[in-house]
Parts: sequence; structure tokens; C-alpha cells
Amino acid sequence: MIDTLLIANRGEIACRIARTARAMGLRTVAVYSDADAGAAHVAACDLAYPIGGAAPADSYLRGDRIIAAAQAAGAQAIHPGYGFLSENPDFVEAVEAAGLIFVGPSAKAIRAMGLKDAAKALMEEAGVPVVPGYHGADQSDALLGAEAQRIGYPVLIKAVAGGGGKGMRRVDNPSDFADALRAARAEARTAFGNDDVLVEKYVGTPRHVEVQVFGDGTKAVHLYERDCSLQRRHQKVIEEAPAPGMTPEMRDAMGQAAVRAAEAIGYSGAGTVEFIVDATDGLRPDRFYFMEMNTRLQVEHPVTEAITGVDLVAWQLRVARGEPLPMAQNDIPLRGHAMEARLYAEDAAAGFLPAIGRLTRFDAPEAARLDTGVRAGDEITPHYDPMIAKLIVHGDTRDEALSRLDRALSDTRISGVTTNLGFLRRLARTNGYQTGKVDTGLIDREGEALAADAIPCSKTRALAAIAALGLDQSPPAHAGFALWHSQAQIARLAWSGDAIDIRVTTRGADVFDVHGDDWHHEVTRLGATWRIDGVQTSACLQADVGRVTVFDGAPYVFDVADPLARGGASAGGNVIEAPMPGLVQTISAKPGQSVQEGDALATLEAMKMEHVLRAPRAGTVADVLVAAGAQVAAGAALITLEDDA
Ligand code: ADP
Ligand code: ADP
Ligand code: MG
Repeated sequence: MIDTLLIANRGEIACRIARTARAMGLRTVAVYSDADAGAAHVAACDLAYPIGGAAPADSYLRGDRIIAAAQAAGAQAIHPGYGFLSENPDFVEAVEAAGLIFVGPSAKAIRAMGLKDAAKALMEEAGVPVVPGYHGADQSDALLGAEAQRIGYPVLIKAVAGGGGKGMRRVDNPSDFADALRAARAEARTAFGNDDVLVEKYVGTPRHVEVQVFGDGTKAVHLYERDCSLQRRHQKVIEEAPAPGMTPEMRDAMGQAAVRAAEAIGYSGAGTVEFIVDATDGLRPDRFYFMEMNTRLQVEHPVTEAITGVDLVAWQLRVARGEPLPMAQNDIPLRGHAMEARLYAEDAAAGFLPAIGRLTRFDAPEAARLDTGVRAGDEITPHYDPMIAKLIVHGDTRDEALSRLDRALSDTRISGVTTNLGFLRRLARTNGYQTGKVDTGLIDREGEALAADAIPCSKTRALAAIAALGLDQSPPAHAGFALWHSQAQIARLAWSGDAIDIRVTTRGADVFDVHGDDWHHEVTRLGATWRIDGVQTSACLQADVGRVTVFDGAPYVFDVADPLARGGASAGGNVIEAPMPGLVQTISAKPGQSVQEGDALATLEAMKMEHVLRAPRAGTVADVLVAAGAQVAAGAALITLEDDA
């Protein structure tokens, strides 16, 4: 009997689990860190318990406090969500020792899949195809090098304890192997405390295709595949189901292999078997290989829900409660096509640098499912993953899903924090994605065209100027008409660092003449909508302190110059600052050292990622102001260069 469920997570996934649990009549219990006291997931639950400080190690990773909260609340079960403790077998054992139900697989099943080398060996035995490679115990450099030679270049070195794309290096030439091995090991040691690696063939034209499985501890079924080939830094950005170009034979072969994998370890609950597919000659049933199994609910599970109509969290709760699998394999429907885009607080143009800030506006799109854990007014902090939301669309065909995705991305309006919205929309519009010719190299190939924001046109600039001058709101009724008569003002804006001055003349309360360098528009306000030269636009405006955003298909963000700040002392290119709060991992710069532009000087770990800080110009290092291991604030000076002679 489960009547009360504790959700040991935060953000969108905690909100999503609470939604289903409540719909099933359960009482829900949230836990929260100091940074999350006012968070959406707390409001989404019936009860909430504080469990410690903002850092995950002080709260969401404190299994003891989470179990104590469950007991205090009278919960019978704990759902771990994804990330945090979801794949921690010691936590599962502690939950069970406390007499509670863990909504997920057994500790034994998690352990079996915990390390990539052991999992590959196990899968080979179960007759599941694995990527050709070496996953043995001998970790000597010489042997690994010889194995790479035998496998044939290019090869991929992977941390056996890896996750989130860390500890992974592709090597194209034997001469680069030793360096890559050293780098992969170092990264693995810091991230996972285990520097064992495996070496495998780098699959040509790789596609990431994974299968959703569901087990009851003995039998398992699959809920078809998801294609997650659109990745940056080996991390997923857009996912879809089914996989474009999938044939019934290949789907069958992959589904059966995934079910074999789950049954081989007595899997219970929702899991994902990830395969890498060699798509050099299209999708072929003899060209897919097991990569790893994620023993939890996956971030991208909603696309599977959209094509099957199954609520995977409901299934998890039913199986946890001891019910048999809710559907037989042949009864699971596959209807239409679904896509998910992950909306991140990050700057695509700056190498996907995570961003932080308070959301001043967050409009959800109409025709899409939006899974999120933040609301307008909430803050994206540096403590956790920078994912803001997931946008999920469904259509009868892939083309229908594509146009819904495009519309949903353009209707989503977020300001206050830099997002990847524009990037996602450009990505979804590439020829490769439109035609379903996806592989994991697509984002890198499209490169800069995807990263850079489109340059705002004169109409967008005109609207930005109106917002910058505070003219976007209707004047109060008592404001005399004469006040607005033929008043000319200059809006001083900057877009992407370039200064733009725009002259706005007010003609009546709702009509503006807007002049730029070589253009002119007449802009009219009609309630909350705008007309430009007599034509209605769907663009809308958001004015924040020091910044305005024009939403017109994509967000265009302009800085509004503060006249007082002009001419202030700027360090120019002499100071290397922390771009965000974080932990200084390494400092390689030494005083007196001469550096070239782009040389790596330090690494900073923030928001689960490692950022390399580089020299902004050639010069000589003057001072190193921090040591490795220091926690630094955003904007903190880390390294200075000597003045340019
Ligand atoms: P997937 O293959 O589903 O992307 P990953 O193993 O890369 O899964 O990570 C799962 C997800 O868990 C991440 O996308 C992230 O959103 C979440 N996650 C992991 N660690 C944390 C954390 N410390 N804080 C918040 N979310 C986290
Ligand atoms: P993680 O645990 O970090 O998720 P995975 O083993 O799942 O690591 O690999 C992450 C990504 O790296 C995959 O989604 C795929 O894009 C790429 N990848 C992994 N193995 C290979 C391979 N053998 N050949 C080509 N690409 C690969
Ligand atoms: Mg993976």
C-alpha cells in the first residue's frame, strides 16, 4: 500500500512526478535545499521538508536526511527522479533497510549496469551486440595502446564510471593516443573517483538510438525507440520518437535486444538501453551496438509517452506497488511522431556557457506540453543543472510534429536569462533535421551558423527602442495628450556589443515615428499588439532593468545603455574573470609566463560543467590571484596580464 510518496529530487522532474502521483490520489512530499525553499517543486507537493544547504552534497545527495523526511511524513515510497541518488545502489539499500519502497530497480540491477566495462561483458553474455573494443581489467598504457591499434582508428576512450559525456575522448591517430588517454583518465578521476577506461571503435556516422524498457523484476517489455542523435558535448539537445528511417525489422531487433538486457538483470521499473547505431548505410539490423543502460526514468521519457499514450510515472508507481506490467508487448500502441527540445539557460554563441539569472518573463507555448520546474520570478542558480524546461510536441506525422515544434519554440518567451531558444529553433530548421538525416555530428558540422543569433532587422530595432524608452505601456488615462505630442527621444541601445542610437518621436499616445541610421518605421500600439507601417506583427516586448527583449520568432536582447556607466574604468583585456560562480579546478598560468591568444590558463567547474578560461590576447601573465580549489564569485578576477607595451 502506497498512499504517500516522497520525491527525492527537484526541478521539472519533481514537478512532473508530483503531477501523476497526485492524479493517482497519492499524498506527495517534497524535499528542498536552502536554495529551493520557494521553488515550484515545493509548491507542487502537499508537504515539504528542508534537507540542507544549496550544494547537492549537502541536500539532494543526503540519503539519510531524505529517508528521515520520508519517515517523518509517513511516506511508504521514495521516487528518486533522475540524476542525484537515482542510480545509487547504496541509497536503494538504505531505503529498503528503512522499510520503504524505492521506486526503481533493485540495488543489484543498478550495480550490474553501473560500470560500462562490466555492463558490456554482461551484455555480451546475454547475446546483446556491443561495440567492438577492449573492456578488460589490464589498464596499462601499453596494452590499451595495442588494443586501440587492434580495434582500428578512430577509437573512443571512455571512463568505465562515466556519465554525462565526461571522461570521453575520440582519438583519430595513434600518435594522439597517449595524450588522450592521460586526459580521459584525469577527467574521470576528478569526476568519478575512478580512472579506469575502456577503448572502443568509434562508430561511423553515429546515431544514438535508445530503447525504453519496463520490467516487473522478471519479465520486461519495450516501448519503442527514441532518437537522441542531436547532441552537443555528447549531451542530448533534441530527442524524438520514433527514430527517423526506422524499419520494422530493426525496431524488432533492437526492442528484443533491449528486453534481453533488462531481463538478464531482473530489471524492475523504467529503464533505458542506449545503443549506438552505425548509420553509414542507413539503419540496418546488424549495425547497432549496446552502449550502456540508464537504470532510471530518463529526461526524454515524454516523447515515448506521447507516441504510446502511456504515463511512465504511473507505470513506475503501479509496478512499485507490486502490480504486474500494465500492458503486454503487443498491446502497446505506437501512434504518430513526437519531439522534445531541452530549453537550457545557456549561451550557445559562447560555447554553450551556462547562464544564471532571474526569469522576468516565462510564457508557455499553446500547442505543446511544457515540463518545467520554474516560473516567472524564479531564479536559475549556479547550484544545479541549467535546464529550464522541456518542450514536447506530437503530430500524426514527423512533418506535423516539426511544424508544431517550430511554432512552440517561437511562442515560448523567456527573458531575464540567456537561453538556447534561438539555437534550438535554428537547429530544428536545418536541412539535416528537417529531412531526418540526423547523426551525432550534426550540431558540430552546422557550427557557427547555429550558434550566432540572427541580426535584428529595423522593425525589431524600432520596437526595442520603444521599450527602452518605457513607451511600450499605454500611458495612464490622466496623462494629458499634450504631454505626448511630438516629443522626440533618443534610445541608446546595444546589440551584441554594437551601439545603436534610435530616435523616437511620439505622435499621439499610440503612434510613434522611429528613425534609425537609414530607415524609418511608423509604429502603432493596439492594446498589447503592434502594427509596423500598418501591418500587424506578432512580436511582443519585455523591458527589464538595463535590458529589453523583443520576441519575434526568437528573442532579441538589447542592452539599454545607462548614461552614468559610460566611460567607467574598464580593465580592457588585462583581467581574466570568472564568468560565473564556481570552483577553480586547475590553474596552469604562472606569473611571467608568456601566452598566446586562446591559450588555456585555468579551468573552472560550475553548473556540472568544466569551463576552460583562455587568454583574451597574447601577452605576459602578471599575477595569478587564486589557487586551485578556490570557490569564486561571478566576476572575480582570477589572473591578470601585464599591460600591453
Ligand atoms: P540523459 O542521458 O538522460 O541526458 P545524464 O546521465 O546525462 O542523462 O543526466 C541525467 C540528467 O540528470 C541530466 O540531464 C540532468 O538534467 C540531471 N542531473 C544530473 N545531475 C544533476 C544535478 N546535480 N542537478 C540537477 N540535475 C541533475
Ligand atoms: P554517457 O554515460 O556519458 O552518457 P555514453 O556511453 O552513453 O556515455 O555515450 C555518450 C555519447 O557519446 C553517445 O550518445 C554518442 O553520441 C557518443 N558515443 C558513445 N560511444 C560511441 C561510439 N562507440 N562511437 C561513436 N559515438 C559514440
Ligand atoms: Mg549515455
